[in-house]
Amino acid sequence: SYFLTATFLVGSLISIIGHQKPWPGALPRELSSLDVAMRLRVDAEMTAAAATDFGRLTCAVPAAVFCPSSAGDIAALLRFAYEQQRPLAVAPRGHGHSVWGQASAQDGIVIDMRSLRDGGASDGNQCPPLQLEKPGRLRVLTSSAWDDGMGLPYVDAGGEQLWVEVLNETLKRGLAPKSWTDYLYLTVGGTLSNAGVSGQAFRDGPQISNVCELDVVTGKGEMMTCSRDLNPDLFYAVLGGLGQFGVITRARIALGPAPERVRWVRLFYTDFAKFTKDQEYLISLEGKMEDITVKKKKGFDYVEGSVFLDNAPVRNWRSSFYSEEAEGRISSLAAQHGVIYCLEGSIYYGPASAPAVEQDVERLLEDLSFVPGFLFTNDVSFMDFLNRVRQGELRLRSKGLWDVSHPWLNVFVPKSRILDFDAGVFKGILKRNRTMGPILVYPLYKDKWDERMSSVTPDEDVFYSVGMLWAATAGGWEKLEEQNAQVLRYCDEAGIEVKQYLPHYTRRDEWMKHFGPKWDMFVERKRKYDPKALLSPGQGIFTAPL
Ligand code: FAD
Repeated sequence: SYFLTATFLVGSLISIIGHQKPWPGALPRELSSLDVAMRLRVDAEMTAAAATDFGRLTCAVPAAVFCPSSAGDIAALLRFAYEQQRPLAVAPRGHGHSVWGQASAQDGIVIDMRSLRDGGASDGNQCPPLQLEKPGRLRVLTSSAWDDGMGLPYVDAGGEQLWVEVLNETLKRGLAPKSWTDYLYLTVGGTLSNAGVSGQAFRDGPQISNVCELDVVTGKGEMMTCSRDLNPDLFYAVLGGLGQFGVITRARIALGPAPERVRWVRLFYTDFAKFTKDQEYLISLEGKMEDITVKKKKGFDYVEGSVFLDNAPVRNWRSSFYSEEAEGRISSLAAQHGVIYCLEGSIYYGPASAPAVEQDVERLLEDLSFVPGFLFTNDVSFMDFLNRVRQGELRLRSKGLWDVSHPWLNVFVPKSRILDFDAGVFKGILKRNRTMGPILVYPLYKDKWDERMSSVTPDEDVFYSVGMLWAATAGGWEKLEEQNAQVLRYCDEAGIEVKQYLPHYTRRDEWMKHFGPKWDMFVERKRKYDPKALLSPGQGIFTAPL
């Protein structure tokens, strides 16, 4: 009877955990007796939601989804996984906005990071209504509240927090992070595992350059705090580390004063050399008021750019800026020239600097070589500027065009070869095919990146971030992926040493080439923090214990 009772109890527990579903064969039985087992969900709705991502190019069904209520829960799960003889893959999933299954774990466990925000509750819905009035695990520390002698304000953000939540909370104190991504519905842990770049990165560096401290749960289940001074090896490994060394459960992010408004311009070019010359000139100007000398002008606070092809619609999720009349004129310019370029710049301002903003912009425009008459201006709140992609997203969602396949290709191109890239890719490969989705091009400074971090960039002082953000609305993403392969082949054959951003490779030798001289350090750190190669297997870097 003892045996029967025990069997009944284990059986009941498994049914509760699994919502009447049988225990997945891929998971060790002993897992069901851990305290945190109650946080595992094995129902098909949850596992199916975690099987794919924004890219909709892959499907890797996990055995279970783990909904932690604290970093301690994650540590308990990883300690258990680390003790197993048979590797048990574990992937933290932020908001699932990768495109190649980087946050997946076939037959393993996906950690639904967003459930940390709600104390372990999750309904598996990847797009629940946002509750900005409930900040979640966010704490803003100003210099008066935190007297550590640095005088810096910062925010402590849970790794699961969306950047839009971080912005909303910091703005209440008149503060904001300095470096952004174009889209804010991405998690802190997700973008810090890559880099986080946008039009502010030329000046303030990528998001990973603006982190002061992290809490991380390693692949051995240890909970560690790290910074440039404390466990620096782990700190540098995790930033840009593609989820390979630990789960980020808290990030301390530097803040600066938030402006109130943004004057935003878009200027069109038909000549790529003039376009890039102007972009490089603009990023060379100091943007900060206190640094301005009489000789230097106030520069833009944000500089980006994009490419328009005559064979693609002008309207995409980044173009909510234009009126219909403007769209017509831009289309005609593209039809006339085949390929045109749009330089985008913004100046931040508040009540004190408002009277000067008009003049500041005019002075900057004087030096630029855009096509006369092709200047478009906008003036928006800081929140609306940073959250600009949301409008485009909602528009596409309403037409069923957001949840489609996204075979994106993002590369960093050395400045010395950007004209060749234009000739071979924008005016060559892409012109020959019909594409859909924005193409972004803007320059960044290498010295704003920290070489000790895991991220990789080309070996030149200035390089261009090029994003080819394709959408395959009527299926057929394979053709676009073949086009991406053509782009990479062209670069290879022409000796253009690009580095993929948000990299996707399937072979070990490709990863070794990607990391170049950083590869040995990357492997060494993996051996130290995740020797059984349990974490984020969807990146496809390590397939066996080290
Ligand atoms: P996920 O896709 O969930 O995870 C990404 C990787 O990080 C996975 O390997 C995962 O296992 C790991 N991971 C997730 N959370 C953690 C954690 N807490 N600790 C450790 N590892 C973790 N990027 C830019 O730099 N600039 C942009 O302007 C930009 N714009 C974008 C716009 C859109 C519409 C989309 C879809 C993506 C954009 N991205 C941009 C790319 C984006 O930064 C990455 O895809 C990022 O990984 C997405 O964050 P996520 O929270 O969805 O991460």
